[in-house]
Amino acid sequence: MTATDQAATVTIPLLIDGRDVDGPITEVRNPARLTETVGGYATGDGASVDAAVAAAEAAFPGWAARPARDRAAALTLTADAIDADLANLSTLLTREHGKILADATAEIANTARTLRYYTGLADYASRETTTEDHRGRIVERRAAMGVVAVIVPWNYPVLLATLMIAPALVAGNTVVVKLPDNSPLALALVLRRLASAVEPGVVNVVAGSGQDVGAALTTHPRVRKVSFTGSTATGRAIMRDASVNLKNLSLELGGNDPAIVLDSATVDAQLIDELVRGAFTSTGQVCYAPKRLYVHRNLFDEFTEAFTAATDTLVVGDGLDPAVRMGPLNNRQQHRTVTDLIQASRSEGASVAEVGQYLDADADGGYFLRPTIVTGLRQNSALVQQEQFGPVVPILAYDTEDEAIALANDSEYGLAASVWSDDVDHAFDVGRRIQAGSVFVNIHRVGASDPSMPFGGFKQSGIGRGHGEIALDEASEVQILADRIDMHTKLTHPKKARP
Ligand code: NAD
Repeated sequence: MTATDQAATVTIPLLIDGRDVDGPITEVRNPARLTETVGGYATGDGASVDAAVAAAEAAFPGWAARPARDRAAALTLTADAIDADLANLSTLLTREHGKILADATAEIANTARTLRYYTGLADYASRETTTEDHRGRIVERRAAMGVVAVIVPWNYPVLLATLMIAPALVAGNTVVVKLPDNSPLALALVLRRLASAVEPGVVNVVAGSGQDVGAALTTHPRVRKVSFTGSTATGRAIMRDASVNLKNLSLELGGNDPAIVLDSATVDAQLIDELVRGAFTSTGQVCYAPKRLYVHRNLFDEFTEAFTAATDTLVVGDGLDPAVRMGPLNNRQQHRTVTDLIQASRSEGASVAEVGQYLDADADGGYFLRPTIVTGLRQNSALVQQEQFGPVVPILAYDTEDEAIALANDSEYGLAASVWSDDVDHAFDVGRRIQAGSVFVNIHRVGASDPSMPFGGFKQSGIGRGHGEIALDEASEVQILADRIDMHTKLTHPKKARP
């Protein structure tokens, strides 16, 4: 079986040691048209994980020994191939995921940009610091870890996988990537291009359920690190499983981001447009999106009215149609989760406004929901406490800044947050008091976190940081080489010099 990427359907085999491997095919349907098959992918099992890890381990010494600039060159080749196929990959991503074509195109373009960004960090990855003094010589360098397992969620599959894979490869590791259960096809095609730019075994691709194939990776004795992006519940399971042989871990997990609109903000079209885009881009299925809005009571009515009116202009439908601003949810389970949260809000007596309009009348043909705004909830309501990951957002009023900060911090999550104010310096001060890995001021949407900005969560939103140079640090070990150092020799503070 070989991969085909015609417009109609795409069938993806596993990729192990540079070779296609067959397996039972799982069908991928278009979430906007449930009768339409977009393609299928081969699923593996414990044996395919063993084979993939063995291939990655065998390829590791040769790959790690190559200069970092050579390794990085493979990323540039892949970025060029992605750019050349931008339209096809974006269309496929919309058809399998549901996000509108403009967002799918942005995700694929940002994937190429991310690959080039990490190409530019090759010298950082291979840096060595040498200290020489009367005690002898100390070399501090970074060493690759070995086989890294990369486990990917469905919401931004291509970009999020790349943010984990690119630093791992530039640092000298080999990878086994587990495709997400939903929306795996565009990613699989990108990975095939990446794999063809490196030696067999450097990039391997497996697929299958998390409990089966995912757990086989996270418990595998030859896997040295697990890089995971996904839900907090799965992150906990992975941390437990990876403890068996004490693997390194990077966990990018769920979020329930607060947005605080301060009394000092002006509720104008720009503020409203930014927050509407933040809350409803990709149908709200974004890890860092404003998921609960806290608005000063002085502005509450004005804000809620303007936010509702702007949201009402959103057109819902198949993301391939250029008139559509919001596609369907990606899958049945997510549709159910969000529907249940809306129902729970109604049962509590909250005011639930379903706005926007469907482009075509057959809303039952896909996992559609209209954008929904909920007021009248309490801080302990399910929609306020849980990550909805969908197109429904609660708005709550507060009276004092201390109260707003306390409400924002009243969560087990701490991924991102935003503060809205005309006084940017003051908003930064408020941001310093919020327990979140990123606090944005007057912006809170996809694109607010550049690939160069360390990204990750406080509390149960994760462990470690991705993006930026720090992702290379987390994909490598510090190694010291030292000669003749005697700890009883008097320690001075020598100057460090790069060779
Ligand atoms: P998920 O945790 O259900 O699945 C993610 C991946 O983990 C899938 O490939 C799945 O097959 C695999 N998996 C499931 N159980 C496993 C196990 N026991 N062992 C190993 N692998 C297992 O997440 P999802 O529904 O795909 O993604 C949505 C979630 O991801 C949301 O909570 C969102 O906030 C979060 N997310 C976080 C970030 C971030 O950067 N912090 C980015 C995107 C998404």
